[in-house]
Amino acid sequence: MDWQFIRTIRTAAADAGRAGVDLLLQPQCPVSNENVSSSGELSAAGWRDFHFINEAFCQLSDIPFFSDYGDGVICLSCIATPPQIDLSADARG
Ligand SMILES: [Zn+2]
Repeated sequence: MDWQFIRTIRTAAADAGRAGVDLLLQPQCPVSNENVSSSGELSAAGWRDFHFINEAFCQLSDIPFFSDYGDGVICLSCIATPPQIDLSADARG
């Protein structure tokens, strides 16, 4: 049997199941709890009150973290292979 066909059928079944659940249980915005048209959707007020994590970065490589682990934390890549920092360039200004 063609895998693309099976994948299409599975996607259609999942969409139909999700639509059925949305009919039975009114989907709500996870931030504001207002009613929305489909599950996982944010309302306008939800978008307004939603805050992205934007200050959690590796201190050496600036790679963003999914969670805020505090100040001065470095990523696993930098722990495994610390980046070469040219201190003489900082001294020259
Ligand atoms: Zn890093």
